[in-house]
Amino acid sequence: MEFNSNLKKIKSSGIRKLFDLAQGKKGLVSFGIGEPDFVTPVHIREAAKRALDEGYTRYTPNLGFPEFRKALAAKLNQKNKISITPEEVVVTSGGTEALFFAFYTLINPGDEIIIPDPGFVTYESQVYFAGGTPVHFPLRGENNFHPDLEELKNFITPKTKVILINSPSNPTGAAFNEEELLAIAQLAQEKDLFVISDELYEDIVYDGREHISIASLSGMKERTISIFGFSKSYAMTGWRLAYLAAPLDLVKEIAKLLQNTAVCANSIAQRAGQVAIQGSQDCVKEMFTAYNERRNVLAKGLNEIQGLSCYAPEGTFYAFVNIKEAGMTSEELSMYLLEEYKVVTVPGNAFGRQGEGYIRLSFATSLDMVKEGIARIKKGIENIN
Ligand code: PMP
Repeated sequence: MEFNSNLKKIKSSGIRKLFDLAQGKKGLVSFGIGEPDFVTPVHIREAAKRALDEGYTRYTPNLGFPEFRKALAAKLNQKNKISITPEEVVVTSGGTEALFFAFYTLINPGDEIIIPDPGFVTYESQVYFAGGTPVHFPLRGENNFHPDLEELKNFITPKTKVILINSPSNPTGAAFNEEELLAIAQLAQEKDLFVISDELYEDIVYDGREHISIASLSGMKERTISIFGFSKSYAMTGWRLAYLAAPLDLVKEIAKLLQNTAVCANSIAQRAGQVAIQGSQDCVKEMFTAYNERRNVLAKGLNEIQGLSCYAPEGTFYAFVNIKEAGMTSEELSMYLLEEYKVVTVPGNAFGRQGEGYIRLSFATSLDMVKEGIARIKKGIENIN
């Protein structure tokens, strides 16, 4: 039996491989997991309980509860400066599903989709699912993983359909500045391209930076699918809830996908999500304060280790650490730190070719663990040879 040939192109995740090896090991310090270590804030959990008690146990409309879409549109207008109507908002079962809808509605066979390298592993797989060709655009360590816009122009061919941007970025922690976003926006308009903008980490940006949504820039709303989530901002990974903003003609196509796949996002999660969006944002700020403290401790600690260097991430809860002087490949070093020092990291090459020479450390773990992890990594690096 010949299975779907698009699936054959998809590699199993390099992250999983390491996590499987870590399974069952005791006394680990894990910098591996890409999800908040916090429990969802209590007022959001209470809202879910209320939703159950009030009987919100049925299908919702395909695109989400109307009042929830209205609340999300208000947030997108106010916070992200994207002038969007509730009809242009779609509630999804996580950012992963939103990405899938974005790729699937835009791609025709043979279309080229520019994705960041290093980048979130799901992009490449989903482009393949949709029958497109992923084109890896290098984000280089020497530029602190910011785009070289002259180089980007050379990656555009007559087949290019979409540029995907992810700022702040998993795994690099880079947050694109306004100038870079304006240049990408100009290029997209000149070449008549769509932009998929993955903004899952919009609430985690450091040193007073402002998160900018590319769809807020002139002429971009019509050609952008903007994706936002609850997983990172509100520590809601298990709830499977996110949303996207897109032009109305695309939303109509996405509705067909929803009708024939998940039908709708979970009804209880939607009710809780509405409280998350409309309630106090203090919980977001509190989690941010914790990430910020860990980020500063981690970057300082790693830079004091001879052989490692770490540019303090501009956003997210990931540090992408340069290991080129350590004398091992990223996979060898991740494996060595796991086997010998019980520290879980993710080899940079799991995120693309440009990730070689780096390891990703997620600091969505306690400050004590961060400190213990730094001490172990220091010992590990000192003991190489
Ligand atoms: N985009 C990026 C960059 C991510 O890191 C993640 C989660 N790791 C997602 C999207 C998907 O998140 P979720 O499906 O939990 O909303």
